[in-house]
Amino acid sequence: MPADRLFPTTIAGSLPKPRWLAEPEKLWASWRASGAELTDAKQDAALVWLKLQEDAGIDIVSDGEQFRVHFVHGFLEKVEGIDWARKTKMGIRNNRYEADVPTVTGPLKRPVPVHVEDVRFVRAHAKRGLKFTLPGPMTICDTIADAHYGRRADMAMAFAKLLNQEAREIEALGVDVIQFDEPAFNVFPDDVREWGVAALEAAAEGLQCRTAVHICYGYGIEANIKWKETLGSEWRQYEEIFPALNASRIQQVSLECQGSRVPISLIRLLSDKTILVGSIDVANLAVETPEAVAAVLTEALKHADADRIQACTNCGMAPLPREVAAAKLVALAAGAELMRARL
Ligand code: ZN
Repeated sequence: MPADRLFPTTIAGSLPKPRWLAEPEKLWASWRASGAELTDAKQDAALVWLKLQEDAGIDIVSDGEQFRVHFVHGFLEKVEGIDWARKTKMGIRNNRYEADVPTVTGPLKRPVPVHVEDVRFVRAHAKRGLKFTLPGPMTICDTIADAHYGRRADMAMAFAKLLNQEAREIEALGVDVIQFDEPAFNVFPDDVREWGVAALEAAAEGLQCRTAVHICYGYGIEANIKWKETLGSEWRQYEEIFPALNASRIQQVSLECQGSRVPISLIRLLSDKTILVGSIDVANLAVETPEAVAAVLTEALKHADADRIQACTNCGMAPLPREVAAAKLVALAAGAELMRARL
């Protein structure tokens, strides 16, 4: 079970896909197999990562997103109302990168469950606490074009409804934490306050398991690293959205702290939340020492009580070499253990 000891460890989301599942160290890498062979390959990959997380000592494990090509479009694949052939060129995350995205052309519906069978499989094999991640409504809307709803807020609410249906079915399978990934929250603070948090709460409505939101500065890819260089000596984006998040019903907030220029004191604004302190840098191939992990957690401890802190990664590790990600899991757990020993 999660959180039965101090500084429980968990990960933000994705893990690298083994080379037999998809081309490694690449986002959006297409599958190497299809049909039943692909189903087997995804499940085998999830089993490998469950084992590696458990061996490392991660308390709340995840499938590492082995079942989806991309953290947003994996969910969208089975949603109705999207024209995948009608690509729209869009500047994503306020024009940080351009992508050809599919277009919403009609009312959004979820005719069949998306990840429910995947979660059933993972739950049957995970011995510890299990987290499942879904894209948040605002981030979905920032990764797909709209030719139907007219207002982003309206499209976000439509997606939130579908996410909530999915989340309720996933929760019923015995998942301990459902996390919504909202990297777009760091880019559109006005929208977050206006409708982003409301859409997030709608996605999580009625859930009895723990609910989390992950807000980061993106995967460790070139476009994000360049963007970070423009943000100055202190990254204060979180400051603009934390008050609204702290007032929300979401229980946990996952943040980027290791190697980032986020003033850690900003977590004071999340005084009612469990904080998943990013203690592993996903934009750096160097594996942290347990001391480096503990150093970030020690800083966080100056601004939040120990029983509200979990040790986490900054973001997903999908683009990393597999052996680096595996070693970072070990470092994360060792750093949390170091903290327990010190207290
Ligand atoms: Zn992230």
